[in-house]
Amino acid sequence: KEAHLIKDDVSDGSKSFKGHDMLAPFTAGWQTTDANPLVIDKSEGCYVYDADGKKYIDSLAGLWCTALGGNEPRLVEAAMKQLNSLPFYHSFWNRTTKPSLDLAKDLLEMFTANKMEKAFFTNGGSDANDTQVKLVWYYYNALGKPEKKKFIARNKSYHGSTLISASLSGLPPMHNNFDLPAPFVLHTDCPHYWRFHLEGESEEDFATRLAKNLEELILKEGPETIAAFIAEPVMGAGGVIPPPATYFDKIQAVVKKYDILFIADEVICAFGRLGTMFGCDKYNIKPDLVTLAKALSSAYMPIGAVLVSPQINEVIYSQSNKLGTFSHGFTYSGHPVACAVAIEALKIYKERDIPGHVSSMAPRFQDGLKAFSDSPIIGEIRGTGFILGTEFADNKSPNTPFPAEWGKLANFVAGVGAYFGAECQKLGMLVRIAGDIIMMSPPLIMGTEHIDEIISKYEKALRATEERVKELKSKHNK
Ligand code: PLP
Repeated sequence: KEAHLIKDDVSDGSKSFKGHDMLAPFTAGWQTTDANPLVIDKSEGCYVYDADGKKYIDSLAGLWCTALGGNEPRLVEAAMKQLNSLPFYHSFWNRTTKPSLDLAKDLLEMFTANKMEKAFFTNGGSDANDTQVKLVWYYYNALGKPEKKKFIARNKSYHGSTLISASLSGLPPMHNNFDLPAPFVLHTDCPHYWRFHLEGESEEDFATRLAKNLEELILKEGPETIAAFIAEPVMGAGGVIPPPATYFDKIQAVVKKYDILFIADEVICAFGRLGTMFGCDKYNIKPDLVTLAKALSSAYMPIGAVLVSPQINEVIYSQSNKLGTFSHGFTYSGHPVACAVAIEALKIYKERDIPGHVSSMAPRFQDGLKAFSDSPIIGEIRGTGFILGTEFADNKSPNTPFPAEWGKLANFVAGVGAYFGAECQKLGMLVRIAGDIIMMSPPLIMGTEHIDEIISKYEKALRATEERVKELKSKHNK
């Protein structure tokens, strides 16, 4: 255990909670015992405060989700009102609640990229993606195509951490030591142009090559065995990877050709994050199934949803004559308090034109941060709307990462990005750190003053990190 301890621990987490009792998600085992956790206690607009009262600009909006910021009174009121009238009733066996019916209606009206017929509610994004897999199997079994069982997802995608959604995810740490992925999941190319394009290859040619690779994979496996393809419009947790030009047009053409369903995982992209109401609107994606969560309730209550096309619903409808009940669901599917909050969140997105706000503010945010792209320690800064990723790299190349142990100064896992992230934290800004990739997805209500604060803190953290890398380089003669 001692080996994990970091001497020069620059984390300013709270000492008074060291050695707590929680087995924490996506946290190293030793950290729960030996490190100071950052305990967040209060939020206010785009800011959060830790247990010691320190203020941070929350450039990750919780976990890509508190779209309307910290203390939106309308959401609190919606929750309180529902808690007072009906804190819970289920939606099984043709019993349900009004908020769940109203939310389903609102969502179907709001999603216009392709016609959707029904909404199914879950607790979050992972179980929504598990639901997708079961729905797709149910659909093809009903159609007499039981051999259509395989799913194609992409390397570096993130679709959740339950058995199936972790299998769909294309991140090795989600699989290693967990006996995953499940054998019915295949992974195809990650559409990250900067990292994977060939010399002289344009974005369009890169997209053509990836679509060709996808088609080859389908043909190799047998199109009759492939049930669905799943994709995030912009990849989030895999490092903020917007699709290269023409990518989704070409991928959709392949998927359609082989009678493969398209699942759009909109868990991060929906409700304005990309400057459009849904990611599908931005990239002209016409999905058969849609996964929603996070900003659906601005994260004030846990809730996810699956939207189902008429074609799939028709099969579920006609199967019920044979099978009766559709035997899938969760106690909290359509939880009335979560639905009441989500209904109010959707109202606010529309009334305040949140997608329009993001789209008008995005240039200040994107250009302001992309201006640091010429830093000698940055390989690429990428993003769109209110989502942005910074990838640190030596020699500005995806092929020469910094030694992972260079980040072990910070109370995080590894990478120069960890050092940068710890500097941000010291300066009062929270970012998402994944090795040498830093991710930001601020609240969608962010205004110019917040953007300027983020840029200023980013610059200070960047200069400190550049200095640190210079020192380490001379120490290690690199
Ligand atoms: N899908 C995507 C694209 C996500 O980013 C996430 C979570 O970050 C999930 C699914 C899983 O959602 P949850 O953590 O609510 O289970």
